[in-house]
Order: sequence, then structure tokens, then C-alpha cells
Amino acid sequence: MTSPQNVYHTINRTRQKGRSYVSQIALITGASGQDGWYLTDWLIGQGYEVHGLIPCRAPGSGDARLRLHYGDLSDGSNLIQLLDEIQPDEVYNLAAQSYVGLSFELPVYTGDVTGLGALRLLEAVRLHMKRTGRFVKFYQASSSEMFGKVEESPQNERTPFHPRSPYACAKIYAHLQTMNYREAYGMFACSGILFNHESPRRGENFVTRKITRAAGRIKVGLQERLSLGNLDASRDWGFAGDYVRAMWLMLQHDKPDDYVIGTGETHSIREFLDEVFSYLELDWHDYVDVDPKYFRPAEVDIVCADASKAKRVLKWEPTISFRELARMMADHDLELAQRDLRLGK
Ligand code: GDP
Repeated sequence: MTSPQNVYHTINRTRQKGRSYVSQIALITGASGQDGWYLTDWLIGQGYEVHGLIPCRAPGSGDARLRLHYGDLSDGSNLIQLLDEIQPDEVYNLAAQSYVGLSFELPVYTGDVTGLGALRLLEAVRLHMKRTGRFVKFYQASSSEMFGKVEESPQNERTPFHPRSPYACAKIYAHLQTMNYREAYGMFACSGILFNHESPRRGENFVTRKITRAAGRIKVGLQERLSLGNLDASRDWGFAGDYVRAMWLMLQHDKPDDYVIGTGETHSIREFLDEVFSYLELDWHDYVDVDPKYFRPAEVDIVCADASKAKRVLKWEPTISFRELARMMADHDLELAQRDLRLGK
């Protein structure tokens, strides 16, 4: 019997063959974030026409390569209209309320945008495909936070979830809906269970960027102290540029599936501090305060990716080491601090 999946594959191949002169079209939600920037970069390099969805209140992504559309995942009817207008071949759902700490303050909002938002988009894609007969591939940004209080180490695609925040609960809901749309409707829907990924474009509230930004400013004399929370927490940190390539590879594979993406190396916040401050010839012990305000009601202590499936099936490999990542971010933020100094900020 032909499964719905196979039917979609056939339609896809025919259609791509029939319009090989037209570039592929991608829609990225959450396009103004770190991953949106790197993914845009990658897709444009692959010859795609890239459209980005950004919230009305966002100042704009500042990325002239993107065709921007205002809207967000709280409005399902707007999503359907948008899909009809753009006619994308691939949809990457990167939009979320993505601050884990803030999700404890805003649990319902986080559930609405990060959890239900993904369902609204999945449903919009399903209806769009049904009505137009078009074939659209879907990527969901799942997260290592879903493993939370880890039940085994390292974590792979079969490791049970044990969420430790409203954010993680919302991401699990979105992850399971993506799986359900794949199985129930034969949609080409994939989830990338991405471990923490950083870059000079990381938001300044995330701990790595908070550290590199402060270290640069301390180095040039613009800042004296840095307040942090739990220094014993550990993460599997990789480079965002490597991880968006994995997203794209998932959608180029013959079969939709879920993949863990990470480096397989774990480092503590202390180790990240060591790496960054010593690179700038500073000793972090002289500058860092621990403030209980930054501790979370429940914490993910240590996570570590087993990305062997992605390596085997997608031939994906990370290219940037922990040290290179820390130094790349430190270099960038030292330059930014020097500019701040010149501008008297
Ligand atoms: P997350 O893994 O998505 O929550 O990424 P974050 O960069 O926000 O946090 C990584 C880890 O750093 C968590 O275990 C936090 O508890 C810990 N951490 C320690 N101090 C801070 C801080 O000042 N800000 C943030 N965001 N995290 C901190």
C-alpha cells in the first residue's frame, strides 16, 4: 500500500522537476533571532528565496536579504493566509518564547506561543497543502530542555523526556504534535532536538553571551562586576551556524524523522568563564558575583547529546569546538566593547 508519505515524496519530486528553474522558497518563523539569521545565511547560499515571519512589535530583523512578513504564532488565520501568499516549499518553525528563566514568570504565554503556536502552524500547513495540493516540508525546533532531569546520559532520540520548566513542557507539546502530524497525515515533518547552540548573535540574556559581553566590557574598563546564577550547571554547547545546517539536512533527507543535534561534550558555566576570561587575560574570580536572583525554581543540571543518528544518517558533524566558540564570542564582544568605549556608552 502507498503510504501518505510516499505520495508526498512522489508529488515533491515531480513538482521540483517541473520547476527546476525556480528557486526553492523557505519560510522561517522567528526569523529575527540567532538561528533565523544563520539559517537565512545558509539557505540564501543554497539559492533559496527566504521569507521571514517576525512579530509586529519587533523592530525588524535588520537583515536586508529576508522578505519580511509581520505576524506571529498566536494568530492561526494569519498563518494560513501567509502560506497561501508565499507558497513555501519548506517551513522552519523557530519562533518561541525561548527564555527558560522567563517561562517561570510567563508560563501561560510560553505555553501559548511555544506549544500551541507550533500546532497552529502545523495545522495551517496541513490545510494549505490539502486545499492547494502543494507539498510543504516542516521543521520544528525542539530542544534538549525536554530531557531536563535526565533519565540517561548521553541523551538520544529515544531518551524519555523529563521537563524542568514551563518552556520545556511547551516544547514537548510541540514536539509530540509534530510527530503526530507526521504519523496521522503523512506530513513531511521533522523535529531537531537541538542542544544549546551559541554564537556572537546569541541573545544577551543567555548565559554564554552574558559572560562574553561582560568580559569584553570589563576588559576595556566599562564594567566592574558580573552577576550570575548557578555556576555548576553544565551544557552541551555548540555553534549555531553548524546547527542550522542540520535543520536543512533533515528536510533534504528522503524520510522525515527526529534527530538529536549536539557536540557530545559537556562543560560547566565555570569552564566557560575560565575559557573566556583567561583568553582576555583576566581572572573571573575577581569579577563574578553569584546572585540567587538568577537561580531557577527547577534546574537542568547536566545534559550531553548523543548525535550519532544525525552523524550516520544526515552525515552531519559539528565543526567548531567549545574553545573556538568561546573565543569567537569573546573576540566579537571585545570589539563591541571597544566600540562602546569610543561612543562613550
Ligand atoms: P538554557 O539552557 O536555554 O536555559 O540557556 P541559558 O544560557 O539561559 O542557561 C544555561 C544555564 O546557565 C542554566 O543552567 C542557568 O541556570 C545557568 N545560568 C547561571 N547564571 C545565569 C545567568 O545569569 N543567566 C542565565 N540565562 N543563565 C544562567
